[in-house]
Amino acid sequence: MTYRVTVDADVCISSGKCVADEPEAFRFDDDDIAETVPGAPELPDRRLLDVARNCPSGAIRLFDGDTEVDVL
Ligand code: SF4
Repeated sequence: MTYRVTVDADVCISSGKCVADEPEAFRFDDDDIAETVPGAPELPDRRLLDVARNCPSGAIRLFDGDTEVDVL
C-alpha cells in the first residue's frame, strides 16, 4: 500500500522542490502552487517521505488510510 499524498495550497511557498525532484507526481497549478498530478503512477512510500521531508514549508502531507503520517 502506498501513502496518499496531498499538498496544502495555503502552506506551499512555490519553492519548486517537489516538482523538480518528482516531476511525474507534482506540478504547478496556474498560481504556481504545487499540486499532485492526476493519474500519476504511485511513488514508493520512501520517495514520498523524502519529498515531504524536503518540502521547506511542510505543505506536503501523507496519509496511511485516514491517519496522517508523521514525516519528521
Ligand atoms: S516543495 Fe513544498 S513549498 Fe515547494 S513547491 Fe512543493 S509543496 Fe510547495
